[in-house]
Amino acid sequence: MSANMAPSPPRFFDHHEEQLLHLTLDFTAPHPTTFYKVKLEGAHFAPLPPGPDLIGTAPYHPYGPMKESRFPGWEEIARLRSDSTFCSSAVIQSSNEVSRLAVKGVLFLETDVFQQESAERMLKEAKFYAAHLQELQGKFVPRYYGLWHAPVTQWGGEVLIAVMEWGGMRLSAFLHSEIATLARRFRIAEALDELHDHGVYHAQIGVGQERHILYNIETESVRFVDFSDAFAGHICGRQLPVRLFDSYPSRIQFGCREAYSIRQCLDLFGNRVRNRDDDQMNVALMHMQGLLARGVSRREALHLVGRTIDHWRTISGLQLKRRPVTENSIPLSADEIQIMKNY
Ligand SMILES: [Zn+2]
Repeated sequence: MSANMAPSPPRFFDHHEEQLLHLTLDFTAPHPTTFYKVKLEGAHFAPLPPGPDLIGTAPYHPYGPMKESRFPGWEEIARLRSDSTFCSSAVIQSSNEVSRLAVKGVLFLETDVFQQESAERMLKEAKFYAAHLQELQGKFVPRYYGLWHAPVTQWGGEVLIAVMEWGGMRLSAFLHSEIATLARRFRIAEALDELHDHGVYHAQIGVGQERHILYNIETESVRFVDFSDAFAGHICGRQLPVRLFDSYPSRIQFGCREAYSIRQCLDLFGNRVRNRDDDQMNVALMHMQGLLARGVSRREALHLVGRTIDHWRTISGLQLKRRPVTENSIPLSADEIQIMKNY
């Protein structure tokens, strides 16, 4: 094969497992479509919640759910979403429980080259879920139920879907509502920090990419989605805990690009002062360096610096010494003094 020949499209129907699911997108076709679970060598996925057929909604518009009456047809959806997947939400209803799921997929796989490329990304993501996100599923990433393939459907030719736990509302919608309290924004930033502490770097988090972060107001949980560019083995070098600051540090000072980006998205760095005049931030950064130099783990050091910042903020009218600040000018919290004694 010559080097510039297009790769042949993935042949998912050569690799079906025994399991089936029936998905009805009942606004467009009255009968369920049978999907076969795709077998991926060495990859194990959780079994779907029990129940009869999955009932799905119209696909999402890039800006949110689409009204069924505005549905333009599957050919048009494939054209509109040519470089990405369509998304829909679906439910499994058993006698006493409703499981809400998210479905994303590609259409007309037998003919559409762009959708074939998206299928490759879905495949890459499925492998990443299996290899690196097992422990985090249901915690910071959705529970993932694998890839499912239908050689023929009533609604889009050959279709490949990924089925996962429904994660909640998109960050863009969340941030424009009254529910975006500081406590919830902290929770989201802390969730990303935890993902990094597990070595997972998402690679598509930041301003303009808010769709990859979901917040569920009913369960107060955060889910990161779309791991098609993610990688494992990240060693996070962030220098500040999740707190609200009066200024932006430089990216280099902060130490981790993605952890910085999420704080930017969540508006945790204010611009009330110039960063060189932000004594709390400067002292926190210096304090962090001091703890790391003493051999304190980064996780513990971040925790301690966070406690110290909280402590400062309980002291009304605290004025940190004007520059040059030294370690002796840092008021320490009680448990920090205790920890310092141990090092
Ligand atoms: Zn990091």
